Amino acid sequence: MSAAKRKKLLAGNWKMNMRLAEIEPFFTAFAAGLDAASRQQVDVLFAAPFTQIQATLAACRARGFAVAAQNVHFEASGAFTGEVSAVMLTDLGVRSTLIGHSERRQYFAETDESVAKKTVTAIKNAMTPVVCVGELLEERKSGSTFEVVGHQVEAVLTAVKNQGPLKDREAFYPGDLTDGLVIAYEPVWAIGTGLSATTEQAQEVHAFIRKVAGEILGNDFAGKLRILYGGSANPGNIAGLLAQPDIDGGLVGGASLKPGDFAAMCITPSA
Ligand code: PEP
Repeated sequence: MSAAKRKKLLAGNWKMNMRLAEIEPFFTAFAAGLDAASRQQVDVLFAAPFTQIQATLAACRARGFAVAAQNVHFEASGAFTGEVSAVMLTDLGVRSTLIGHSERRQYFAETDESVAKKTVTAIKNAMTPVVCVGELLEERKSGSTFEVVGHQVEAVLTAVKNQGPLKDREAFYPGDLTDGLVIAYEPVWAIGTGLSATTEQAQEVHAFIRKVAGEILGNDFAGKLRILYGGSANPGNIAGLLAQPDIDGGLVGGASLKPGDFAAMCITPSA
């Protein structure tokens, strides 16, 4: 599938931000900043903290935006204090979740193995996992970016492959997250640092991820796979990133908390 056929996806990661009282005003301002064409041409997703999900869903449903969790457990229920399962999220109507964000890998001991288990669980529960991968600064400096990212992608996609083909999945809300899996390339050194990867650096890793995905799950899957870039994306650099053939959207942290900035980023791809 050509890049033109992959609908752009702009996903905001609110991290541990956004009080309940801020949610409705955020969406009023965000929706006012979007034009009608962008609403048609771009999928927009908000990854909210668990306790803010219901209010975010209420604000998003009427406006046509999708909502994701920021994490999910791989078991359906049981003695896992502090965790939330996929069935609990789907009970609420949540159809997507971030998995393996670098902050979870760094601060909460998330591993390739847990990321793979969570991804398979999300898919089995008809959720779209947005699986985050990316190298540390030392790894980039030592020239091991492709090895590290390749290993992360391989771990998760091999687990998915072993669970049966994604094409058996039915389409689900928001309708165009076609294959039930999104990968976000987020170089760890670029997250929250103001130091974005260059368009060339990002494109070469995205092309590599698509190649690895094709080797594991076939070229049809790889051609449809949406690969987002994350790491200090902002209204000033998003257009250059999204113009790259293998960059299908953005996973946006800091700028997604500013409704005007994030709306401007969602308009860019359709321009
Ligand atoms: C993120 O949290 O996934 C992220 C990319 O953050 P930021 O845009 O702030 O770098």
